Amino acid sequence: KMKRMTNYLEELNESQRNAVLYNDGPSLVIAGAGSGKTRVLTYKIAYLLEQGYKPWSILALTFTNKAAREMKERIARRVGEEARYLWMGTFHSIFSRILRAEAQVIGFTSSFTIYDSSDSKSLIKSIVKEMHLDDKTYKPGMIQSRISNAKNHLVLPDAYASNAELYQNDVNAKVPATRDIYRRYWERCRQSDAMDFDDLLVYTYLLFRDHPEIRQKYAGQFRYVLVDEYQDTNFAQHSIVLQLTKEHQHVCVVGDDAQSIYSFRGANIDNILKFTQLYKGARLFKLEQNYRSTQTIVCAANSLIEKNSEQIRKEVFSEKAKGEPIGVFSAYSDVEEGEIVANQIVKLRSREHYSYNDFAILYRTNAQSRIFEEALRKRSLPYKIYGGLSFYQRKEIKDIISYFRLAVNPNDEEAFKRVVNYPARGIGDTTLNKIIDAATLNHVSLWKVLEDPLAYGVSINKGTHAKLQGFREVIENFIKEAAKKSAYEVGTLIVRQSGIMNEIYQSNDPENLSRQENIEELINGMHDFCATREEEGSANIRLTDFLSEVSLLTDQDNDKERDSEKITLMTIHSAKGLEFKNVFVVGLEENLFPSALSLNSYKELEEERRLFYVAITRAEEHCYLSFAKSRFKYGKMEFSSPSRFLKDIDAHFLQLPQEEQLARRIDEGAGRFRREQNERPQLGGKPKVEMIRPTVPRNLTKIGTAMGGKSPTSATLPINVQAGQVIEHERFGIGDVIKIEGTGENSKATVRFRNAGEKQLLLKFARFKVV
Ligand code: ATP
Ligand code: MG
Repeated sequence: KMKRMTNYLEELNESQRNAVLYNDGPSLVIAGAGSGKTRVLTYKIAYLLEQGYKPWSILALTFTNKAAREMKERIARRVGEEARYLWMGTFHSIFSRILRAEAQVIGFTSSFTIYDSSDSKSLIKSIVKEMHLDDKTYKPGMIQSRISNAKNHLVLPDAYASNAELYQNDVNAKVPATRDIYRRYWERCRQSDAMDFDDLLVYTYLLFRDHPEIRQKYAGQFRYVLVDEYQDTNFAQHSIVLQLTKEHQHVCVVGDDAQSIYSFRGANIDNILKFTQLYKGARLFKLEQNYRSTQTIVCAANSLIEKNSEQIRKEVFSEKAKGEPIGVFSAYSDVEEGEIVANQIVKLRSREHYSYNDFAILYRTNAQSRIFEEALRKRSLPYKIYGGLSFYQRKEIKDIISYFRLAVNPNDEEAFKRVVNYPARGIGDTTLNKIIDAATLNHVSLWKVLEDPLAYGVSINKGTHAKLQGFREVIENFIKEAAKKSAYEVGTLIVRQSGIMNEIYQSNDPENLSRQENIEELINGMHDFCATREEEGSANIRLTDFLSEVSLLTDQDNDKERDSEKITLMTIHSAKGLEFKNVFVVGLEENLFPSALSLNSYKELEEERRLFYVAITRAEEHCYLSFAKSRFKYGKMEFSSPSRFLKDIDAHFLQLPQEEQLARRIDEGAGRFRREQNERPQLGGKPKVEMIRPTVPRNLTKIGTAMGGKSPTSATLPINVQAGQVIEHERFGIGDVIKIEGTGENSKATVRFRNAGEKQLLLKFARFKVV
């Protein structure tokens, strides 16, 4: 045993080892990206187990469930099977487990529903409507984030209502009724036996605060608490960690202030600084060697983050190879950016024999993914995409899941509203609104009203009454089945008996085949879920187990093919903590990255810069940055200039495109690229054709011609394009004209674009100029 232990301690450098071995009191590891913080946590857990800590006495809180799973696997390799009993997972999944066990004392049942963000929004929307407020002023998303913010700071409805400052904020934002919406929202969630994501934190805090014996039970059980990515915890989270550790003080947190990217969720960079105040005598460990990336990548990232004024100074160095400079690509359009990235992946893969999962494309917003998907699909390159509209957000899946939810918790208001009349049962909005009113008035759930509508004063005719009872019987039957059958069996039964499969089958919607496939996929997933759980030794896997798992999946967890040979597409936010051999950070343009919303305050701008730092530091061997000079946004083509962040990186570490090198030499000023866009020299001395700034819908085949500004009906072509000429197309960039077919109105050109491949253009619509 001793030998095994020494072995793995040798896989750490001295500072890492010191951090692993120190367990007498609170400790804090602050270090830059890739310096082995997560490794320290993993090894510390293995070490604690060897020191005699029981696996269930260790609580480790990670950023994603996937990260927890991977850590567990690594630890299992060191210490074997017992790693299974570690308490490891995201704050939300660990706390929901505790809350289900203790639900009764805080007035919930153990099968409470977890509302996802769209459920919360929909509930807020109906509350706004019921209160006769204007939903253009009281935008559900905006109200949702105000409520969420309050919860992350542990401000409950009463405290909110009596807080003059918060009220003044709401008055200033012209939403003074927020406090009333918050209160109603809180009540309605309780009546529905439902918690939203923030509630999982709030109620855990309240559970421990108001029930000292329960707090002591858990504080006693978790003899050691570890937190990864501590820089992104919010007030509620670190308050709970304190509740669990204030007596024994066995707590170790690791983080990097330079990677704090969740202030919009209430995460506070000061948490790291506060830690040493909360835990007197906490030991601080610093790690300086980066083991992930080439020297060039590390130095480039350092030179970037230096531009932030708020940070804990730290050294980071790498002893890996120097590596290639970071490639910067300038694309003519968003489409061309996709093509360039896809081409570079093909090139690099064949040159250095990478596998597809060595590549990641990271973007600022989910909306950017589509262009890259298209470029990859065109070349038949396999990819997996994270986030965006996840599987569980698809309409048909949400519909089925709503039935699942009712089978486990019939009081679930959002699920009720979604399917009470789907498939159609003749229960209209008027009836539904009567039920909602009665429920609100009597402080009960919609389901409760359904049990005896007349007793709750709902006036409906006999026919409607019968329809409602029909729905009730369907759900009651599901409830009965869910109590005795496995998740998979009930799932299959509900899909069949809810009538949804039939509904989809009969509709003429062209999407219906893929809807059916998705539902089958869901059922297959349930089958796998039950099988895996059974292999792990659990019996009687119920629908409620399945639901608790799917409601807490994070973007990274939504990944069935986690080791498959695929290129990864994800937002930078969800890439935190991960590493890839080759990383493309795309869309480096002003108003996109940094985002337009961040330009008003230096604090937000610094957060965007940290986000960029996170992106670059995911790369081990190659890192590329790209921007497009024009991009479709909100249905309009817009010109964009390169991100200011490109200038924050020491040019020394960059391989700039030629035009950019020139630009930097001539003029370091900001407006340079905009000008260059307009003053692009005409190759071959051909007369310049002005591009018209289009403000038209996306679909290229429907837009008017830009050639000479003539309307598409003009009979003669303003430009006589011939095979052999080189053109510059507004979206596809530079290409060679291969042939022209047809005449007048209908002439078509086949063009081989340098980056976008071969395309046929209908000349009367195409937007290009001859160069
Ligand atoms: P991030 O800030 O991005 O979360 P991190 O500080 O958590 O990074 P890790 O992910 O733990 O860093 O480590 C980065 C990489 O370096 C991993 O592949 C890890 O296995 C490797 N590594 C860490 N320490 C060592 C070491 N002492 N020897 C060899 N490899 C190491
Ligand atoms: Mg890490």
